[in-house]
Amino acid sequence: MAATDDIFVRSPRELPASPKRSLGQNFLVDPNIARKIVAALRIGPDDTILEIGPGRGALSEWIVKAGPGRFLAVEKDLALALALPRDHPGVAVVAQDALRLDWGRLAGLARLKIVGNLPYNVASPLVWDMCAGLRGFAFAVFMVQHEVARRMAASPGTKEYGALTAFLGNYVQVEYLFKVGPNVFRPRPKVDSAVVRLTPLARMPDVDDPGQLAWAIKHCFSNRRKQMRRTLRGQWSEDMGHLFERHGYSPECRAEDLSPDFFRILAKSLKKPGAS
Ligand code: SAM
Repeated sequence: MAATDDIFVRSPRELPASPKRSLGQNFLVDPNIARKIVAALRIGPDDTILEIGPGRGALSEWIVKAGPGRFLAVEKDLALALALPRDHPGVAVVAQDALRLDWGRLAGLARLKIVGNLPYNVASPLVWDMCAGLRGFAFAVFMVQHEVARRMAASPGTKEYGALTAFLGNYVQVEYLFKVGPNVFRPRPKVDSAVVRLTPLARMPDVDDPGQLAWAIKHCFSNRRKQMRRTLRGQWSEDMGHLFERHGYSPECRAEDLSPDFFRILAKSLKKPGAS
């Protein structure tokens, strides 16, 4: 009967539109998982919560119940952005692409915690931008593809360790919290998901130029099987050899062996093609 009731109380215009694949709309339909994700935020009355991609409000419902001081959300789908505050009063929604957020402007928000069940094509660039641009947030909890979660939390020397890991490692500590199977989403995705928590490093190193660091890391991982002396062929010098040795690395090592810290140090010695 519930389905019939739904047809009577809503006009066809109000029935939820079909999920848009282009926006990665795999909606969470299991309240237990939603509650578990929101519990990982440990929401208190002084917190500001920023939700990325609230969709139909699976997480928002539990966030509102937890009673944060302030609840903001960014949703790219205009129809969903308009519907959310009607269904979940208490949330202030901006209809915008979260990849265009100016993270620097959010830095002043009190006890900022960020959360989202992120679409696969948004997760890596969004987390990358957030780490480079946002200072002073409490922590972030994201659901991402399981494989991306493994990469975010990987240690140097493993096959999952890559450019994303090395970059994030200069800003945040990543904890892999739990795995989530495809059955709790509609439509069902083809792969598993996982929830991670990102906490700013207690002693945040000074990254003078995040753009230079990003370029250097991507360049070093452009061929992950290549030895570093070969990858950096055009720029390799005796001094660079000494820099590697001083930090315990041989020139024959590969990008996957280098720590996030060492990438930051190395980036200062590398010259981006075209840079003056
Ligand atoms: N939070 C909801 C849930 O758990 O059911 C929805 C999650 S769904 C995987 C991803 C949501 O992010 C969708 O609502 C989608 O419209 C939105 N979205 C996709 N790309 C986005 C972007 N670039 N910026 C903001 N929201 C986006």
